Amino acid sequence: CGIVGVLGKHEAAPILVEALKRLEYRGYDSAGIATVNDGKLARRRALGKLVNLNDLLVHEPLPGKSGIGHTRWATHGVPSVSNAHPHRAGAVAVVHNGIIENYRELRAELTGCGIEFQTETDTETVALLAQRYLSEGASPIEAANKTLDQLQGAFALAFLFDGEDDLMVAARKGSPLAVGHGDGEMFVGSDAIALAPLTDRVTYLDEGDRVYLTRTSIEIRDANGALANRPMKTIQIDA
Ligand code: GLU
Repeated sequence: CGIVGVLGKHEAAPILVEALKRLEYRGYDSAGIATVNDGKLARRRALGKLVNLNDLLVHEPLPGKSGIGHTRWATHGVPSVSNAHPHRAGAVAVVHNGIIENYRELRAELTGCGIEFQTETDTETVALLAQRYLSEGASPIEAANKTLDQLQGAFALAFLFDGEDDLMVAARKGSPLAVGHGDGEMFVGSDAIALAPLTDRVTYLDEGDRVYLTRTSIEIRDANGALANRPMKTIQIDA
């Protein structure tokens, strides 16, 4: 029930786990992270408390300075490691809060094209759709946009891509999402509390916004695809 993301200067895994801890108050049944390291996307997921994910990371570290993380409150598919986020399809990893209302239709369409699902979640549909667009030649940003265009429901989403360690795409429609501005670093989080130890400069996305981030740039587009100017606020939360 929480999302975090980082395009950073330091190892992402401990930053992501720490930020997820700050979202624990929302409740969750499993947790996971994905990073891009030397251009390669990889993920780790664990059932239960964040300490389990941490233990897993001790035994199977996940290097990389770019990453996304998630605590899950299952809505579609039982709590399990395979249903835990991030969900991955080919070169795409996705974390998602909320519900994709039209996932059944999308799933039927993908299944009809011979695409196989590994999980019972609504979220896997998002990863598989984005991967399909990539395989058709779309760029990562185009693939994320085309995917987001098709989604109905209330959600917050963050995408990370194999081969892209300076790109994150995120979207907000019905679930809150904030961008944190660092010094040559960018963060996303379900709320500013998650980001408090990382930065006090936060931009809240509006309903329907999509954001395209690199370490040094931020582009926000509104629900109509127009460039949007959202204020950056300096917040005060005890880190
Ligand atoms: N609907 C998604 C799932 O069940 C996301 C749940 C959440 O918000 O954590 O996996």
